[in-house]
Amino acid sequence: MSRCIVVNCVDGRAQLPVIEFIKREYGVSFDIITEWNPAYVLAERNTSVEARSIMEKIQLLIKNNNISVLAIASHRGCADDCESGASCSRQLNLSVQYVAKHFPEQKVIGLWVDADGSAKEVCSANQEENSKPKEGV
Ligand SMILES: [Zn+2]
Repeated sequence: MSRCIVVNCVDGRAQLPVIEFIKREYGVSFDIITEWNPAYVLAERNTSVEARSIMEKIQLLIKNNNISVLAIASHRGCADDCESGASCSRQLNLSVQYVAKHFPEQKVIGLWVDADGSAKEVCSANQEENSKPKEGV
């Protein structure tokens, strides 16, 4: 059975909305990697220890599981520049592209959690046509 890897912020506010989104939209089991503001780390500091640690964990999980989707999550209120949304959405896009380049076999999506606790998919890369698992697979 295919699984999803969620890379989310350590912030508790971002956890449930993202988990609920993945269960609702993709209906797959998932593993969660947490890091403070992972979209920023992967977009702006991708040679840092934190970014390398995220990438290594993704690689290990892919090696040991049938991973179909990688989700990077960002949320309003994470950092100062997330209040406006603009800079965070740029970083989320960049982080999705960065991860997609390294893991071309998986669909990579960017999730945004708003102040009201709603999560939505705002960007994606790779495997558009196989985005969701088919019934009975
Ligand atoms: Zn955060």
